[in-house]
Amino acid sequence: MKYPAVLWTLFAMIMMSVMASAAQAAQLEGLRQWTDSDGTRLVFDLSSEAKADVFTLDSPDRLVIDLADTTLNTTLGSAVDGRGMVRDVRSGVRDGTDLRVVVELDRKATPNAFKLPPGGGHGYRLVVDLAPGESGGGTSSSGGGDPITAMIQQQEQAARSRLSGNRTGSTPPVSNEPTAESRQTAKPHPRRDIVVVVDPGHGGKDPGASGPGGTHEKNVVLQIGKRVKAKLDAMQGFKAYLTRDDDTFIPLRGRTRIARRHHADFFVSVHADAGGSTSPRGTSVYALSQHGATSERARWLAQSENRSDLIGGVDGDLNLDDKDQVLRGVLLDLSMTATVNDSLSAGTDVLGRVSNFNKLFHSRVEQAGFVVLKSPDIPSLLVETGFLTNPSEERLLNSPAHQDKLATAIAQGIRQHFLRSPPPDSLLAWQRDQNRGGASNEYRVQPGDTLSGIAASKNVSLAALRRANNLDTDVLRLGQVLKIP
Ligand SMILES: [Zn+2]
Repeated sequence: MKYPAVLWTLFAMIMMSVMASAAQAAQLEGLRQWTDSDGTRLVFDLSSEAKADVFTLDSPDRLVIDLADTTLNTTLGSAVDGRGMVRDVRSGVRDGTDLRVVVELDRKATPNAFKLPPGGGHGYRLVVDLAPGESGGGTSSSGGGDPITAMIQQQEQAARSRLSGNRTGSTPPVSNEPTAESRQTAKPHPRRDIVVVVDPGHGGKDPGASGPGGTHEKNVVLQIGKRVKAKLDAMQGFKAYLTRDDDTFIPLRGRTRIARRHHADFFVSVHADAGGSTSPRGTSVYALSQHGATSERARWLAQSENRSDLIGGVDGDLNLDDKDQVLRGVLLDLSMTATVNDSLSAGTDVLGRVSNFNKLFHSRVEQAGFVVLKSPDIPSLLVETGFLTNPSEERLLNSPAHQDKLATAIAQGIRQHFLRSPPPDSLLAWQRDQNRGGASNEYRVQPGDTLSGIAASKNVSLAALRRANNLDTDVLRLGQVLKIP
């Protein structure tokens, strides 16, 4: 079978829930562009949710965005400012009702696309991040450490191995020349380890909270963090790294950079709390909030944990009045909906396990604007293991047995989350599929899939496929398993 020279880097359908009534035609109302040293971000403003296919083509290098049932209600060219990778933008009607936007690029680029629901003064958005460089298999681009690039590379490999398979339907008609990519045969499943970066809070000149008995937060959280790493390393299919394994100071963004360098699937920052009096006690788990803190306490705590960078003298990133910071915040805000949902899911698993042996200070995962959790693409949690300011909890936090229980709860909670939704190329995903016995009436969603494409390749109608899976939306998520009627 022949396929066009397409790098399928399709992150289609990113897990936003859609109303069943979203069939109404959408309008593309605007395009915004930012460029910085990491690449170019394009934000497509839409009047309502629209199904989107995003992929790249080469010779010449282009980014293509197909928006289902969408009309153009803006002048796209005005968004092009000559900076970054974008040369020109044009659009056309496709299949009668769909809109195709073609972005001409001045070099090869790797896209990462996701949708955002209305928020922050904007309506529905489709965001496409373009990282420079071709993401061909094995030829990692010079930067190396960018997890978005890495993730897309993995997905491309998966997609490419399928290109010799049964894709039909949604391949765009652009070129008849098969490429080396499209001729490649299927690769064995990578069965890779899920990477967790464990971040013991504070360190060095930043001691964190202190207890009446003289315990410093930086020391107990290092001990607990090392135990979390050991527990995860002992689990099949997991590999853990520490941001620090001694008493050194690392700025908050340095910690997330370490997570990126390791291509982390998950980031967990371990802390111990301080209360206004000796009475508060118990564990709490926090995820990032994009829109304000869930409680006054969460807001206060975020401010206090974020202060770490002020101690370290790298406060430039933290001045909220700084224009750069505002822009950065907006950009971060755009990226995080999907990862925050994963963080909340894992955080709930951790809390459930801690509740078996310790009091919970908050029974649900709280949210606030923690700088250390602001990795747009890595689900992240901050665990306040307990209150150092409470004398009996200070004693507990110093006890190896209690530290071990906390570490077990954190590691197992994270594992539980990944058992539920493993990355498609992970050992856990492979094991899950083996256990299913490869039933032929099931299909696992791969990068680049659309519901209509799957229906076509399985020779079933779209309606029957929707019905068999109780779908009220055509939005798929990677790894989702569909029943084929
Ligand atoms: Zn702390």
